[in-house]
Amino acid sequence: MEPQLNQEVIATAAAHDGPIETDAVIVGAGPVGLFQVFELGLLEIKAHVIDSLAYPGGQPVELYPDKPIYDIPAVPVCTGQELTDALLKQIEPFGATFHLGQEVTTVEKQDDGRFFVETSKGRQFLTKTIFIAAG
Ligand SMILES: Cc1cc2nc3c(=O)[nH]c(=O)nc-3n(C[C@H](O)[C@H](O)[C@H](O)COP(=O)(O)OP(=O)(O)OC[C@H]3O[C@@H](n4cnc5c(N)ncnc54)[C@H](O)[C@@H]3O)c2cc1C
Repeated sequence: MEPQLNQEVIATAAAHDGPIETDAVIVGAGPVGLFQVFELGLLEIKAHVIDSLAYPGGQPVELYPDKPIYDIPAVPVCTGQELTDALLKQIEPFGATFHLGQEVTTVEKQDDGRFFVETSKGRQFLTKTIFIAAG
């Protein structure tokens, strides 16, 4: 399933020359990174999510999309792909921007307390917070 991307934010980011200035960057679009989008969304914070894979989902999608999972609270059984689809549906309202197919290669704390983040595709961020959900 394709992630529900906020096209307006993507267009703005693509047209941006310098670093994208943001409140939150999440490294990793596995289950933990996706649910972090939800938690930040409750605080009205929009996140940029970066993953080296070309699609969200992390291990459940990459390693076992069809295997049944039995230990999700309130969900008797679902597959890795179904878990990811449900998480993507759950975070739809929060307008996260996904930067997929690129690895985070640099994280440097700046003098002003923000973090400079750069990916293998040269996309740069200046973020007030960074959440490492890299598995
Ligand atoms: C075969 C198998 C079966 C499993 N079955 C179950 C089960 O039934 N129930 C259960 O509870 N758990 C199961 N697990 C474990 C479960 O998949 C993990 O606990 C879970 O995926 C962890 O989620 P996560 O979001 O922390 O990390 P991950 O799913 O590992 O996602 C991390 C993401 O971060 C990305 N990333 C890492 N470094 C960078 C970087 N520098 N830049 C950009 N992106 C980066 C990776 O590409 C990845 O997509 C299973 C694991 C395996 C391998």
